[in-house]
Amino acid sequence: MPKVHLDAGHGGSDPGAVGNGLVEKELTLILATKVLNILAPYCTVYMSRSGDDTVSIDSRCSYADEVGTDIMVSLHINASGNGNARGIGIWHSIYSQPGAGGNKLANCIMNHIIVDGFTNYGIHTRKGSNGDYYGVIREPKATSIIVEHGFIDNAHDAALLSQPKVLDHLAMGDALGILDFFGITYKSPVIVNPIPAPTPAPNGIWRVQVGAFEKEAGAEAYIKRLDAAGFHGAFKKFVTT
Ligand SMILES: [Zn+2]
Repeated sequence: MPKVHLDAGHGGSDPGAVGNGLVEKELTLILATKVLNILAPYCTVYMSRSGDDTVSIDSRCSYADEVGTDIMVSLHINASGNGNARGIGIWHSIYSQPGAGGNKLANCIMNHIIVDGFTNYGIHTRKGSNGDYYGVIREPKATSIIVEHGFIDNAHDAALLSQPKVLDHLAMGDALGILDFFGITYKSPVIVNPIPAPTPAPNGIWRVQVGAFEKEAGAEAYIKRLDAAGFHGAFKKFVTT
């Protein structure tokens, strides 16, 4: 299985960016944990932190080297300082060739992560005096990128980041992009229905009704929904007056 290092940005004494009642270190840990859960069946996943811990940039990077991860994805929420910028941006190494390494990984994630009204802030590189500007991109031996999940000080993005459902979708975007990078196909979890067939009892059976419909089409549609949810063959249409 591929090795993936998820790096929840900031933590402990370093809150990261703060705005609109949101704290970056809390959102990055929620996102990283959700991505971990989605990737677990497909990848060996390592986390820089799994709680509200203070972790230096150096130890994040040395941990990535220590476990020999294939990729490192550092999860962050951006801030512009004036509240005007918004959207999802991804940074990779200045040394990545188009369509390879960090550039490929960034594109794979960007293809999946523009959800729920987020805009695309673009895929970028940033040069420093010593190669890549960002330590988490420069230091690890593995391909490493930074995903900035919107801007915490932008009202539009913050309203989205306040919704658990949106965080689910962002995490799914990260996870699907990572799986794409490795050429792995994601399979939706199947809901397994353990309800056994009813056994006729001498004094009749308890019937559980889940819907009543005026029109046959409504009943048919509902049976389809139940079937899709995994309740196969447990329901029979009947007409009553
Ligand atoms: Zn950050």
